[in-house]
Amino acid sequence: CGIVGYVGGQSALDVVLAGLKRLEYRGYDSAGVAVLADGGLAAAKKAGKLANLEKELADRPLPTGGTGIGHTRWATHGGPTDANAHPHLDNAGRVSVVHNGIIENFAALRAELAERGHDLASETDTEVVAHLLAESFSSCGDLAESMRQVCRRLEGAFTLVAVHADAPDVVVGARRNSPLVVGVGEDEAFLASDVAAFIAHTREAIELGQDQVVEARRDGVTVTDFEGAPAEVRPYHVDWDA
Ligand code: GLU
Repeated sequence: CGIVGYVGGQSALDVVLAGLKRLEYRGYDSAGVAVLADGGLAAAKKAGKLANLEKELADRPLPTGGTGIGHTRWATHGGPTDANAHPHLDNAGRVSVVHNGIIENFAALRAELAERGHDLASETDTEVVAHLLAESFSSCGDLAESMRQVCRRLEGAFTLVAVHADAPDVVVGARRNSPLVVGVGEDEAFLASDVAAFIAHTREAIELGQDQVVEARRDGVTVTDFEGAPAEVRPYHVDWDA
């Protein structure tokens, strides 16, 4: 339902949690975050309000890092449980993804992944994306290219934002039939389902077009279509107050 991603010099956890709060008005049933730190990936997710997640984070703090993602979920596939909350991870716990929308062909993809030995831990349509990204990254070593390869296999509506522990200063996103906006700051970048998540930090925005992938780094963003062809970006200034 609500998505926030961050890469920059601030604590990604703080930026992502504040962004998720700005999106709370949309309604949700669970929330979660993942951050890259110390060469690894750490995640926390809880059914219920953001306050539940914050209590979990107070009890079991995550390490501090400058790259992270977060999600507030409105369940469509699988009930509102901790296990079904986003982010979803691959079996090695190296890649993490959040998703808005519905992956229509998830059942076929789940069956295919199970056959290749993947252990699916949730009932969501989303989790297949984490496993597919992990497989793709292990062969190409590039997270944006992995996202393009995976998106070409997906049917339905999706905003996806992902991080990988082996791509420590990168956040990638993709969209089809569901919104994704990019916030371009000074030495930092934001990905979100709504500009409200980042206007406290920057008002320079790029709206991702249909079937596009964005790779965000501290020093800028690159946008392509699902085949890898560079896309024309149209930056705009967010001039409303929220
Ligand atoms: N279909 C996904 C799920 O049920 C994402 C739901 C959403 O948009 O929050 O987990």
